[in-house]
Amino acid sequence: MEDVVIAGAGPNGLMLACELALTGVRPLVLERLPEPTGENRANGLVGQVVRLLDRRGLHERLAGPLGPPAPTFVFGAMLLDLTLAERNSLNVLGVPQRRVEAMLNERAAELGVEIRRGHELTGLTQDADAVSLDVTGPGGAYRLDARYLVGADGGRSVTRKLAGIGFPGATEDRTLSCTANATVPAEFADPESGGLRVPGHGVIPPFFHYRTEAGLFVYAPFPAGPLISTTEWADDEEPADEPPMTLDDQRASVRRVLGFDLPLGAPGGDGPHLLRRLRGRNTRLADRFREGRVLLVGDAAHVHSAIGGPGLNLGLQDAAGLGWKLAATVRGWAPAGLLDTYESERRSVAERVVMHTQAQSALISPGRDVTALRELFGELLRLPGTVQHITDLMSGADVRYEPGTDHPLDGRWAPDLVLDDGTRLAELTATARPLLLDFTGSLGDELRGWTDRVDLVPGHAPGDATALLVRPDGYVAWATSSAEPDGTDRKALRAALERWFGHPLDA
Ligand SMILES: Cc1cc2nc3c(=O)[nH]c(=O)nc-3n(C[C@H](O)[C@H](O)[C@H](O)COP(=O)(O)OP(=O)(O)OC[C@H]3O[C@@H](n4cnc5c(N)ncnc54)[C@H](O)[C@@H]3O)c2cc1C
Repeated sequence: MEDVVIAGAGPNGLMLACELALTGVRPLVLERLPEPTGENRANGLVGQVVRLLDRRGLHERLAGPLGPPAPTFVFGAMLLDLTLAERNSLNVLGVPQRRVEAMLNERAAELGVEIRRGHELTGLTQDADAVSLDVTGPGGAYRLDARYLVGADGGRSVTRKLAGIGFPGATEDRTLSCTANATVPAEFADPESGGLRVPGHGVIPPFFHYRTEAGLFVYAPFPAGPLISTTEWADDEEPADEPPMTLDDQRASVRRVLGFDLPLGAPGGDGPHLLRRLRGRNTRLADRFREGRVLLVGDAAHVHSAIGGPGLNLGLQDAAGLGWKLAATVRGWAPAGLLDTYESERRSVAERVVMHTQAQSALISPGRDVTALRELFGELLRLPGTVQHITDLMSGADVRYEPGTDHPLDGRWAPDLVLDDGTRLAELTATARPLLLDFTGSLGDELRGWTDRVDLVPGHAPGDATALLVRPDGYVAWATSSAEPDGTDRKALRAALERWFGHPLDA
């Protein structure tokens, strides 16, 4: 019997596989496609997920050392000046999804994860002890038993359907989004901003979501070649047997959105070149993330507009949130109810993402009333407090899991600490082990009974906190600012250790 089977080797299934393998649980991954398609969806990672990758040593593999947060970003096609925020936590990593997937594939292979490509999950039944899976592979159909199954099989998740988990929400079928690799003649380039100078519109900055009364236009000059993207609100029904999109379709869409005929040219280089037409937009949230021994991560659990790029911030952090809890359950030390906290923690984060992507979709939609709303919103976005609020929402810095104490760090993403000897917290968390950072030098005794599960880190780091218990997913499970923790602090630390990491061995 397999401990854990993951259906789907997209980014979230692969990340979960790596998280489990780091703890010593080797999952089996089933992927229905015989090989990666090379299709690109995400063009970048936005928010705390960038720091999560850093905390597993994975950022280095994609783009070298972690850089500073972005100075600007876009919300609902409006410029966010992040220099106005007191605490800017919005990291942006502009790497294509196919590179993220290739890197995670490589990492999973290093960690000994078996990925069966060309193997599709087609059926499941479960009882109190196991999940029984029907799989169709290149050699035909076969059965597999597992203690747990995780559906990481995308928005149309077969796992979710087979487990009987509802996926309520809405399909907005008016949107028509076109994206193409294309070139724009040099005379339209604005060398100063890197954007485009378009008659009637002035300079359209690069990577900016530029709204007109007719739709949205984006010019994204990626190093591999520029990408042009438009979104319109179409009144017509989706034509039956619509032919594949062409560059002419993209030109026509740009003409409708900008009211100007931008002479797009064919992209240079060998490709692959993107020509993508998407109609409609789904916003849906699974009504449960768990049904018995079946769990969901990533798009299988939630789908929403891609505006602002929040998908992988949500999905890869789902994987990190689930990985250690599922591993603890499989290895037998999980406290009662630990696995259920995956849903209680992550579903509410997904609700916030659904909320802000819908709000942004409203802000970019056509109409003079929306234009007026945008004017007001634009005024609000000049207020530092508003920028702080939106930055925290988009990065995920506003997430606070149920704290056990009233310390301000309890339940929050652990700050990027640097110890006096120069060691970064991100280096200590590469193994995904829980950590007790003890800068008081007095708490080692409290850890007796948990040393098999939790590592003690002595030393010192600047800042308010004198000790922190950090979960494998990067969130603080307990913290104190006392230089000499008293009985109450120690009791709260032991309670946090039991709450998250189970009974002490000698109990
Ligand atoms: C146009 C577009 C642009 C986007 N831009 C961004 C962005 O800039 N930033 C961002 O963070 N996010 C972005 N996203 C969202 C992001 O691409 C998704 O959130 C992400 O791909 C979800 O990953 P996943 O692993 O959950 O699912 P998927 O990537 O869908 O992977 C699911 C995998 O499961 C496999 N599978 C399906 N059924 C089965 C089965 N029965 N058995 C076995 N295997 C199965 C599939 O073949 C697939 O490989 C964008 C999405 C779109 C559509």
